[in-house]
Amino acid sequence: MFLKGKTALITGSTSGIGLGYARALAAEGANVMINGFGGAAEIQGHVEELIRTSNAGALYSPADMTKPEEIRAMVADCTAKLGTPDILINNAGIQHVSPVDTFPEDKWDAIIAIILSSAFHTTKAVVPAMKEKGWGRIINTGSMHSLVASPFKSAYNAAKHGIAGLTKTIALEVARDGITVNNICPGYVWTSLVENQIPDTMKARGLTRDQVINDVLLAAQPQKQFVQVEQLASLAVYLCSDAAGAITGANLSMDGGWTAQ
Ligand code: NAD
Repeated sequence: MFLKGKTALITGSTSGIGLGYARALAAEGANVMINGFGGAAEIQGHVEELIRTSNAGALYSPADMTKPEEIRAMVADCTAKLGTPDILINNAGIQHVSPVDTFPEDKWDAIIAIILSSAFHTTKAVVPAMKEKGWGRIINTGSMHSLVASPFKSAYNAAKHGIAGLTKTIALEVARDGITVNNICPGYVWTSLVENQIPDTMKARGLTRDQVINDVLLAAQPQKQFVQVEQLASLAVYLCSDAAGAITGANLSMDGGWTAQ
């Protein structure tokens, strides 16, 4: 329980990887504010589970990551009720799969806002208190698409490459303040984000569901299996430890070998 007394704010944590991070940090005793969309009863269930696990505080913020004023209100709410965020994980994300010539403008704007701009707004809001305390951990969920591209994902790849640049920049700015900033770059993880892009990928590439899973999603993942949420969560916990204090500004791949090729 080495995170007892620390507070973590995790965007996009009502499901998938973000919920995995929340569970793992709560298991180390952290107060956790989760965020994202979903059914009220299910989210309340997650909050209660986190409180039981951590024996500390947990709260939910419904802030929409496309809205800067809601992002600032989320940080203020976390600060007032759980404490200033010592750990910030920028994880919210959506996907849209389409060739660029038919890529909808509203999807481009939403993806850039949720993945990239929201991380700027949260980071800007939490850094002053981290500097004052002389300790902080900022972890971004990038992707193998922070490092390499795949076709038909122009907005997502642009946003994920952007988050890699944001990571390096903030890491340099706060390098002397006890704050580390890193970008975890997962390969394919089996979550709703992946499930939801199967129909569009079937359409964009003219493939069956099984072909999309084996010939597209796992085609370039040499281990031929999905990365597990728990494996990513363990990396996030490690990054919060003193042992990881010298890791900053890094893109940390956990992608089954995707970017080794
Ligand atoms: P997910 O759909 O399970 O989780 C996405 C989370 O973001 C949910 O909590 C959702 O409610 C939230 N969210 C979406 N729009 C939001 C908004 N406007 N405001 C606030 N929250 C919002 O998917 P996931 O796979 O767990 O994705 C989490 C992160 O991991 C994303 O950034 C994604 O790009 C990244 N990632 C996923 C994979 C993968 O294969 N699943 C691979 C690499 C990177």
